[in-house]
Amino acid sequence: MALSGLDIYKLLPKTNCKQCGFATCLAFAMQLARKALTVEKCPFISEEAKRILEEQSLPAIRLITLGAEGEKLEIGNETVMFRHEEKFRNPAGLGFIIEDSLEDAEIKKRLEKINKLKFERVGQILEVNLIAVKQCLDPERFLRAVEVVLANSALPLMLISGDSAALKKTALRAMARRPLLCCANKENFKDMASVAGELGLPLVAAAQDALDLAYLTKELNSLGIKDLILDTGIKSVTEKIWDLTQIRRQALKRSNRALGYPSLVIVDKDDPYEEAIEASAYIAKYAGIVLIRGIASWEVLSILTLRQNIFTDPQKPLQVEPRLYPVGKATKKSPVLVTTNFSLTYYTVLGEVEASKIPSYILSVDTEGMSVLTAWAAEKFNADSISKALDKCGIKDAVEHRNLIIPGYVAVLSGDLEEKSGFKVIVGPKEAAGLPAFLKNLN
Ligand code: SF4
Repeated sequence: MALSGLDIYKLLPKTNCKQCGFATCLAFAMQLARKALTVEKCPFISEEAKRILEEQSLPAIRLITLGAEGEKLEIGNETVMFRHEEKFRNPAGLGFIIEDSLEDAEIKKRLEKINKLKFERVGQILEVNLIAVKQCLDPERFLRAVEVVLANSALPLMLISGDSAALKKTALRAMARRPLLCCANKENFKDMASVAGELGLPLVAAAQDALDLAYLTKELNSLGIKDLILDTGIKSVTEKIWDLTQIRRQALKRSNRALGYPSLVIVDKDDPYEEAIEASAYIAKYAGIVLIRGIASWEVLSILTLRQNIFTDPQKPLQVEPRLYPVGKATKKSPVLVTTNFSLTYYTVLGEVEASKIPSYILSVDTEGMSVLTAWAAEKFNADSISKALDKCGIKDAVEHRNLIIPGYVAVLSGDLEEKSGFKVIVGPKEAAGLPAFLKNLN
């Protein structure tokens, strides 16, 4: 829990000497509590107090960075249990397990498919994040499998092996990717810490439950390993969600530094539907990395869509730039449709206009990312805002007519909008799905 101004005051010298620029130690403490300045401003603070305050300023869940510059995966640094309290910060990484028992050709084939798993949705690119190579055979084969992955994928890498010597040899080959090592447990943690410490790489700590994990991370910390990811093994969904929730709760609500790290989940399901459902559940609560085996586009897209929704800032709806968008080879005779700049609304309208195959213009009005009815109720999508957008967007030069199609839900705007804009208003369908038929019959 964050220290209050009074808690911090108790750690200060209380001499009110003013050298920090504040009249009293209490005033300085209040600014520290607000994180408006740093502890160095007071030259008289004790080393112990400094240590406590610096520790206090660290994130409750450590930010862990995997991969090389340009293909980095950042996880952790989360501050809330529930998205509506503020927002979730770093989207869970979605990765794929590749076992070294596969033939090289099969590994390449899988990587080719994984490399194509990029999707555009409401103006954002959804991508996968990680390849985890698992040792099932001898160290030489493990090394060879990792070399195939390095040559055929630029994604961040995770290396899974219980053999610290094999892990070190393979990690040395992959150092440019700053791979995540997996994993240290209560039997091997000294060997694994030695490899991770020597190479400066992040490490997965694995134990059966949160309590054992807390002991293990303390041991690893004492050996100098700070970049950790937590794993409580493969369990039922209920047990796993319980573990993930306890770890997050302990870190955020109890300031338990020993559990202040992102979590890893490996989904072990043959059925791709079950795999997609489980992965989605773990992304919602509270995995930092989710590893799956399935590489089918439909499965990955469904998981990435869920992730995009969970990790969108609820205070800032996804928005497109408010402006005029030509669709197809729009001409001076093309119809003009108006909508809001909420991404989901805009892209839904765009999809239907494209489906109609009628070149058109879509005017996206700045409604601060609100959908049509919400923006209308908030007076962000009305005759004034639409008229101003029409004046600014250049549509008057782009088309030779003065007709404007508005969403059916805001038909009530027609009279006022005609008066203020000088455009003839045509009321379109209420739902975007009605646009293709509507546009085809427009003449
Ligand atoms: S410099 Fe330190 S001791 Fe002096 S007033 Fe500021 S906080 Fe208090």
